[in-house]
This record gives sequence, C-alpha cells and structure tokens, in this order.
Amino acid sequence: MKRHKTKTRHTASNSDAGPEKPSLPRPAARAGLRSAPGRPLPHPFRKGRICLALTFVGGLTLEARRKNIVLPVEDASLPAVVRLKLIDGCLPTVAAGDTVAEGERVAENDDGFRILSPVCGEVTAADDGFVTVRSTRGGEPVGLPPVESPVVSLSYEDVSERLKQAGVVGAMSGVPVYRKLARAKGKAKRIVINCLESDPYSAHISRLVTDNAEEIVNGAKILMHAVCVKRSVIAIEENRTEAIRALRNAVYDKTLVSTALFKPKYPAGNELLTVNAIYGREVRSGRTPEESGYLVLSAETLLNVFNAFAYGTPQTRKVVTVSGNAVSRKKILRVRNGTSADEIFANCDGFAVQPGAVIEGGIMRGRSVGPDECATLSTNVLVALPKKPLDVDGDCIRCGRCVRVCPMHLAPLKLVSQSKDGQIEGCLAIGLDACIECGCCAYVCLGKVNLLRHIRAAKAQAHPPALPPDAAEQTPPDVPPESAPAAETPPAAADAEVAPVDAVPTDAASADAAPAVSEAAPDDPVQAFLDEFAPAAEAGKREESDGEPNG
Ligand code: SF4
Ligand code: SF4
Repeated sequence: MKRHKTKTRHTASNSDAGPEKPSLPRPAARAGLRSAPGRPLPHPFRKGRICLALTFVGGLTLEARRKNIVLPVEDASLPAVVRLKLIDGCLPTVAAGDTVAEGERVAENDDGFRILSPVCGEVTAADDGFVTVRSTRGGEPVGLPPVESPVVSLSYEDVSERLKQAGVVGAMSGVPVYRKLARAKGKAKRIVINCLESDPYSAHISRLVTDNAEEIVNGAKILMHAVCVKRSVIAIEENRTEAIRALRNAVYDKTLVSTALFKPKYPAGNELLTVNAIYGREVRSGRTPEESGYLVLSAETLLNVFNAFAYGTPQTRKVVTVSGNAVSRKKILRVRNGTSADEIFANCDGFAVQPGAVIEGGIMRGRSVGPDECATLSTNVLVALPKKPLDVDGDCIRCGRCVRVCPMHLAPLKLVSQSKDGQIEGCLAIGLDACIECGCCAYVCLGKVNLLRHIRAAKAQAHPPALPPDAAEQTPPDVPPESAPAAETPPAAADAEVAPVDAVPTDAASADAAPAVSEAAPDDPVQAFLDEFAPAAEAGKREESDGEPNG
C-alpha cells in the first residue's frame, strides 16, 4: 500500500512558531493567515495579534554562526598582568612601583571620569597611554558605597557623578556613559535598550538579558529619570525567546518600557539602524543619536549602570564571546579589563588547531590582533579562525551586490573607485561619513575587492588625526595648513562644486547628487541599477513596520 508522507510547514519568519497549528486564534484567522502560507503566524508573545518584526533594507542574515547561545557566562581566571588602555583623555594617577587594590583608581580625566584597576597588584608601567599592573593574589577589592536613596531623589548631577566614579563606559562604543548622558540631556525623548547582538559570532548579550533582565530594565529607569525621559523601548531579536520571556517578566509597567522585536539580521545592533527601524527617523551624518533625541544603550551597559548604583560596583570587567573553529571550547567569559588575548584563550583550553588569525571586534568588521593584544571595556567578540583570511584586493566586476546589501543606502563601489583615484572630496559628497563600516559590502563582493579597507583609508584621509599640541607648535609658521591637502586633490575634484558633508545623507541631498553622477556616466549599467534601486529601497524600507514599537 502506498504511504503518503504528511508535510509540516514552518514559517520562515518566525522560528518559534513551530508547526502550523490546526486552529488559529480568531484575529489571525480573520486576517486570512490560513490561506496565505507566506504570512507569519501570530507571535507567541502577542496573544491573538499579528506581530511583524522590524527590519531594515540591506544587511545580511548570518544567524547560523551563532551556535553558543545556550552557554552560561563564566568568570575568567585571574590574569598575571593587565594592561589598561587610557581612554577619554585620562592621565595616570599612579606611578611604577605603586601598589593598587582591585577597584582603585589608576587614571582620571579633567571631568573626574576614572579608570579603575581590575586586580590587586603592583603598577609596573604608567605611560604611552597605558597603565600596566602585575596582579597578586589576595587583597580586598574596594568599591563605592551603594546608593541608598530612592532613584527619584537623584539629580542629573548625582547620576553623572556616580557614572564617572564607577568608570562606566558603553559596552559597544567604549564611550563613557556620562558623555552620552550629557549629549542627551534636554534632547532625548526615548531611551532604546539595545539587546541586539553586534556581530554574527556574538552571543553574550542574549545571555546577559536572560540572566539579568530586571537589573537591565532598572538601569534604564535610572537613566530615564536622570534625563527626564518618559518611555524606553527594548530592541531585541524575535528569536531570542528566553530573553524576551525574561524581559516580559521584568517589565511591570508597559507604559514605561515597551518592546520592539527585530528580525535577526546583521548589522541590526548598530544604533543608527535601530533608531531608524523603530522610529523611521534618520540620524543626520555627523550627529549622534542622542543629539537627535534617542539615547541608545546596550543591555550590558545598563547592567553596569545598575550595578554601579545598587552595589557600588566599579566597571572593571567585560563580557566577551570567544568563538571560532580554531578555539577548543567556545565560551562566554567575563574577563578583566586589560587581559591579553592569550590568557583569554587559555580559559577556553587553548586552540584545537593552530589559528591562522585572531579577530577582535567581530568577524565582519573586526581587526586581526596578536597574542599580546589586550581586551578593553568595549571588546565584545574574539574569534580564532583556522585559516588566515585571504589578503586580496581584486577588481570590481560591477555586479552591484555591494549596493544591494549596504544598509546605509550608499554605493560602496563608487566610494572605492573615487578613493582609489584620490578624490576624497568626491567620496564625502556621496556619503563617505555615513558609512558605518559594517563590512557587508566586502562580504558579498564577487570581485574580492577589499572595500572596507579602501573605505577606512578614505575616511582616514578625509579626517586625519589632530596633531598633539606640542607637535602642532613645531609646524613651521610659513607653511599654510591647507597646502598639503590641496596638493593631493586632483584639479578636477578641486574645481567641482561639493555639497556640505553634513547635508549628504539626507534624502534631499542624495537626490541632488544623483544628476551629477548620471552626467558623468550616462551609459553606465551600474548607475542604471543604482537609479532603479534607490526609489525601490526607500519605498520598501518601512513595509514591515508601522513606525511604532510593536510590544
Ligand atoms: S559602504 Fe559602509 S555601510 Fe555600506 S555596506 Fe559597506 S561598510 Fe557597510
Ligand atoms: S560587489 Fe564588488 S564586484 Fe560587485 S559591484 Fe560591488 S565592488 Fe564591484
């Protein structure tokens, strides 16, 4: 007898929904989901209502890389030496030979922001932008007294002062949180609790949210009070079911904190894209989200804020995802600031095979580091690859794939061609500063063009680092400062009329720039593709979002 197999259909957009149920909730049935198999089922956390996850045009779906999501957070062992990077203009307050306790200040800037020692031990060096401490066992850690008074009695100054004393920095950007708070004061309308992973290999944010949801929400409430914001939004990927459940239980007042579910897509964790997807607002180039009214903070940052207030814990540790096929055991580790890459991998039983490369900062946009490179308070991912990535720089075959995946709606191939020709002004005119260096264009490039390297080189040329004051004083007075860039600029580019940089990423500026490009290459097939793509991208950008958080 012939047997018939029963097929089970799963929805592509919602991995938690499982097999199609025999009966759907009434609103979903009314929406005709049964007769439209491509449509998503109702989300499990929105009973009886259709929930469409937010997304953005471009980007890449690279979910398969994130395999260590179920791992717990482990404390790394005590490193022999830590090398602390001095950020935000901090200068050492200790000298070689001094003894420090864990949590004691080793550097401070003019605003009172502190860098704190993550170990007890002896300072062996304090120069060249680093403080090095050799650790010793024993010794009592020092901390701040917990804040006993209710949050509503704290002023903005109280909150800012505590953040400086505890040395709290953004877990993604490494920018001190007191600076973000100062930029947001008087301007912020919403706080976005960013629970999105920053890289395809990163897995620790979801783990932290699952384990510390209530603390993260309370950390956000402290900052909401400080900058007088009435509502926060949690941004989280729709397939992080455990984390979403923990957040649901932690949020008691849904008028204060709502949830925006995102499709799992890289680089959703970028704060500009997060704001754009939730509110449909583009942050102008050269401005921060805080200046545009949105204070975006990572879940890990908010956990550190809460710990600084509730327990007086200074920020001396960072949670890092250690992954890659060359590492023996993939782990999520809580490492001390300044721990070397070698010691971090030793906590994962070393390497299964000799690594071809160790990438810090993510597989898509990170940089290759040596064994002595030290973790900072903004290190998120360490990936050990068995093979060294090919160091090739091919030629563009004008396939247009880089344009299709660029989440900032740029034309990476044009940025690179202008950069190669030395036309930095031209690069700026077509949105060089709007590039978030996500690396999507380089990932999909069929011509193996090293797009990210060229874009970074163009940015470095466009914005050279400022000379230190003493070096500037040594500049001969008879050399005009603008002479060097003028000599490098080709005459044609120098004569061209260039739009102001901060006006470029807006829609109006893009529209203005388009005719000039078309005139330069009227029969260019890639340009034809770009012209066709741009309006379609704008129209489709918000097709799955109604502009409001969906939870
Ligand atoms: S041009 Fe910049 S923003 Fe666009 S895909 Fe490339 S790296 Fe990402
Ligand atoms: S993806 Fe690479 S080969 Fe294709 S158009 Fe862009 S730069 Fe050229």
